[in-house]
Amino acid sequence: MNKFKIAEPQTLEHVTSLSSEDTTYKLMAGGTDLLGEIKDGIIEPEIVVDLLSIPGLSYIKKDRSGVRIGALTSLVEVAESTLIQNEYPALHEAALSVATPQLRNIGTVGGNLCQRPRCWYYRDPQVQCRKKGGSRCFASNGRNKYHAILGGRICHIVHPSDLAPALMVLDAKVTISTPQKDKTVPLVDFFTLPSVNVRRENILAPNELVKEIILPPVKRGEKSTYRKLKERSTWDFALVSAAVKGIVSEGIFNNIKIVLGGVAPIPWRLERAESLIRGRKVRINSVKQAARRALADAQPLKENGYKKELVEAVLSRAVFSLV
Ligand SMILES: Cc1cc2nc3c(=O)[nH]c(=O)nc-3n(C[C@H](O)[C@H](O)[C@H](O)COP(=O)(O)OP(=O)(O)OC[C@H]3O[C@@H](n4cnc5c(N)ncnc54)[C@H](O)[C@@H]3O)c2cc1C
Ligand code: SF4
Repeated sequence: MNKFKIAEPQTLEHVTSLSSEDTTYKLMAGGTDLLGEIKDGIIEPEIVVDLLSIPGLSYIKKDRSGVRIGALTSLVEVAESTLIQNEYPALHEAALSVATPQLRNIGTVGGNLCQRPRCWYYRDPQVQCRKKGGSRCFASNGRNKYHAILGGRICHIVHPSDLAPALMVLDAKVTISTPQKDKTVPLVDFFTLPSVNVRRENILAPNELVKEIILPPVKRGEKSTYRKLKERSTWDFALVSAAVKGIVSEGIFNNIKIVLGGVAPIPWRLERAESLIRGRKVRINSVKQAARRALADAQPLKENGYKKELVEAVLSRAVFSLV
């Protein structure tokens, strides 16, 4: 582990005034992911910028535009909020499914969305894979049990965040602090595929940061859920997860939106399955068939073909929990 200095900015402007070309600093919120990367020697920053020293970025507020969640709000605050539990159950369930109570106490919403991939080649300091500036993806012909079945091509990571699919299904927006002025973009436009820039997982420049998440008001009759399948019953990242939102009446979804986690480098919308489920009486076989048809283009690697079956299972659970 390299020695580094801690910077304690008091304002967002201080952070955004840092040079975007400067690779010697890293932003830290709870540090549950960042410090692991530093300890393992994957990154070696000279300065760690402690975002927790900036006041006023931890809150859950409701106003006419919906619910606003500050980037430094802890995962436990999201999981324990009755407002979130009552109005956005998918987010409540997703926050509750992250890691352990200790990590949820410290981990933040912004950090959860910006955490780096768990690919074991990426996390191995000896391996210089494509994501770290090398020329090869070692997972494509190596050990790839936990990797992507969709959207990988040059780098097969899966996005590790549980909050991301839930927030995306809820049509969340993200406000980003930049050196110029804040900008707000739909969360769907925040995450980027490796084909856009293999070194990054989102649109943030190094001196930009997530400031706030905005959830639109819930429509009348709208329900949502987040289901996660893990390898171990104790804490674990998702093998596959499904966030589903919809309006159901007499066993028929008038409206449905599905976003999967654990299958692609970004949270993955399953529009084809949505159109096959919408407007029909929900039956177990039809949901499984919708999942199968929606995954027709999936390209599993040698060890992760099982994820297709898991999608059928997790989607069925999620969809039936709303009926
Ligand atoms: C043992 C273990 C188990 C875990 N299990 C799960 C799990 O099941 N599900 C899951 O979703 N996650 C899991 N995680 C990841 C953990 O949830 C995240 O590490 C946590 O939410 C990150 O929040 P943090 O505030 O600690 O982020 P940090 O570690 O401080 O930061 C993470 C990354 O985000 C960047 N960052 C932080 N805040 C911002 C911001 N506001 N704007 C821009 N960039 C920012 C940092 O520079 C860093 O690169 C696990 C982690 C561990 C160590
Ligand atoms: S999947 Fe991505 S992070 Fe993993 S070895 Fe391949 S290039 Fe590296």
